[in-house]
Amino acid sequence: MSSIVLFGPPGAGKGTQAERIMVETGLPQVSTGDMLRASVKAGTETGMIAKGFMESGQLVPDSVIIDLIKERILEPDAKNGVMFDGFPRTIPQAEALAEITAVTHVIAIEVPDGKIVERICGRFSCGVCSRVFHDLFNPVGPDGCPCGTLEEKRRADDNESTVMSRLNTYHEQTSPLADWYRSKGIFHSVDGDRAIDKITGDILIALKK
Ligand code: AMP
Repeated sequence: MSSIVLFGPPGAGKGTQAERIMVETGLPQVSTGDMLRASVKAGTETGMIAKGFMESGQLVPDSVIIDLIKERILEPDAKNGVMFDGFPRTIPQAEALAEITAVTHVIAIEVPDGKIVERICGRFSCGVCSRVFHDLFNPVGPDGCPCGTLEEKRRADDNESTVMSRLNTYHEQTSPLADWYRSKGIFHSVDGDRAIDKITGDILIALKK
């Protein structure tokens, strides 16, 4: 079992690219953010712990996240590996991951801070099929969502003040992981400030290295 990690700041386009890379690699997307939002919605104990951290743009404690991943990785669709999106976000999470599965590629989607607020504040997803859209950069086409029903959903933490806090958290706690993975020779950088197709193309090239 070997896995890949999509790495980058909030709003870099990890979710959008994960949907596309999933089709190419067959690896299921595992987004800790999506898992936590589902737990908050369901009112589970994990959700109750996570809610406040998420609303203020801080990281949920490592132990909570590592437990979620340990459980998720046991599911049948994960037997050949997974594509992590938004995990790991700290060195302890990366160390725990190394015990669970071999990571072959860490793909960093690089986007300058100045572009992040605009990207996050215009994004939404379809509540029925989870496809990701953006008011400006990836609008819904004239025929609507490909799933046939568009239920527009915007995240509670996709507002300007929480985004600034999420960006600070990223620089302080998550970006040090880049050097950690670079030292292992599995880190690849992709320019994320371009057309979605071009980024997907570069990610697929990086995955062959
Ligand atoms: P995301 O959907 O990846 O942007 O995550 C939304 C929020 O969930 C983050 O701002 C954190 O509060 C929390 N979160 C998601 N993944 C993690 C993680 N790996 N470690 C800690 N907190 C996380």
